[in-house]
Amino acid sequence: MEFVDTHCHLDDDAFAVDLAQVLENARSAGIRRFINIGYEPESWARTLELAERYPDIDYALGMHPNSADRWNVDTANELADLIERHGPVAIGETGLDDFREWVDRASQLAAFRDQLELGRRFGLPVVIHMRGDVEEKILSTLSSFPDVRIVFHSFDGSPELRDFAVANGHAIGVGGLMTKVASRALRETLRSVPLESIVLETDSPYLVPRGIKNRRNTPANIPPIARALAELLEIPVEQVAAQTSANARRVFTSAQFAAVGDPS
Ligand SMILES: [Zn+2]
Repeated sequence: MEFVDTHCHLDDDAFAVDLAQVLENARSAGIRRFINIGYEPESWARTLELAERYPDIDYALGMHPNSADRWNVDTANELADLIERHGPVAIGETGLDDFREWVDRASQLAAFRDQLELGRRFGLPVVIHMRGDVEEKILSTLSSFPDVRIVFHSFDGSPELRDFAVANGHAIGVGGLMTKVASRALRETLRSVPLESIVLETDSPYLVPRGIKNRRNTPANIPPIARALAELLEIPVEQVAAQTSANARRVFTSAQFAAVGDPS
């Protein structure tokens, strides 16, 4: 079986010492592509370095809502310039977060709208982080960008958001969150999502799936997530692997990514 980890933070300090080994372990577990999320200027630079060093690392570049106070003319121009020169497979992660109230809502919204505009301009999907009571605002913002494809990272939305995503061809990111004991409602919501709408992710080093002993999450934990999803949907895990890998290829469509052979 082969998989894509569509959301990880391999440039995090948690991997400073042993990233080469972490990647090797993940490859042995069947992970064929890693999409690293560069989420603020320092992370953009680290992400580009990683992608340079490891051909199986692709990446998104964007400004996280918790860093949105750094969104200004200079960082916006820098991001657009990097996108133009390097060709990421997505914009993000961006979105809204009122769980951790580090940045005021107006700044988060401005950064979010501008990055949706970048998604439209460059024809790239936009990876959305949403946390707290922000669903309504996300939906009303997206209504101005019907032509931009969205990836709902670590989806934890309502059945209405699920239906919106499926009906509009957006992608639903499934990771460790759905394996948690407390995520019963999320599992119910995911049960009726067509497999064609789902991409797998670890959000490493965060969100360790249930049953994994290590406190640090790594991309090698994609297979347990796939097994949990297969169990929920009552289908073979091989089908989850093949379809979610095909979905990832379809959604994250830079020339770079499309050039990679069919992993299914
Ligand atoms: Zn993330």
